[in-house]
Amino acid sequence: MNQPSPTPGGGVAAPQPHTLAAFEAAKGFMPRDEGLALYAAAAEAGALGLPLLEVGTYCGRSTLLLADAARAAGVPALTVDHHRGSEEQQPGWEYHDPEVVDPVVGAMDTLPTFRRTLHAAGLEEHVIALVGRSPRVAALWGTPLGLVFIDGGHTEEHASADYEGWTPHLAPGGLLVIHDVFPDPADGGQAPHHLHERALASGAYGPGPATGSLRVLRRR
Ligand code: SAH
Ligand code: MG
Repeated sequence: MNQPSPTPGGGVAAPQPHTLAAFEAAKGFMPRDEGLALYAAAAEAGALGLPLLEVGTYCGRSTLLLADAARAAGVPALTVDHHRGSEEQQPGWEYHDPEVVDPVVGAMDTLPTFRRTLHAAGLEEHVIALVGRSPRVAALWGTPLGLVFIDGGHTEEHASADYEGWTPHLAPGGLLVIHDVFPDPADGGQAPHHLHERALASGAYGPGPATGSLRVLRRR
């Protein structure tokens, strides 16, 4: 099922080499093969001429790839995060990084690192950062989207709110991409897997490529 999207010229859509280098150097939680699959999906969705949306910016690792695809397609990439980190990224938890704590307020703040990452890669103008809780932003949303990439909070509550808030805005033919889908509970948390099953069971999506824990579904 590893079939990256073809480009009009017949090749596989790939990010600019300097974007891929920036992606690999950025803090974050996505391996290269999944990043390339995300880029290919974003490149395909970009052809719809609609914005590409990410839930879960963190330090901008995956955002770089959406931004590069958005640049190529002439559409904006939107990325939503409150920048205070998920449960498992808080001090004392497995994925905590003390470098992204704001010493003044004593809480996580990934926004400065994200902005530096995007600026250094020269992709700032292609991205609109939405800083806030995903369901609160989604509740105000009214524009069709070409791609919805769900990589935010991994509790059942957060994951379902992302699905319910954003997928109604996905245009026909648009792509729903879900990260951290682990069918075997031994490999990771189950909330993203449940979203994937829910999306398939809804009948609104056709199955698409799977790469690592990344799943791509096409809106009918
Ligand atoms: N896409 C990133 C990783 C995202 S980590 C990468 O490629 O590296 C998950 C992010 O989701 C965290 O930054 C956290 O702050 C954010 N998040 C979790 N729950 C959220 C919510 N309800 N609203 C907005 N952001 C949320
Ligand atoms: Mg993830």
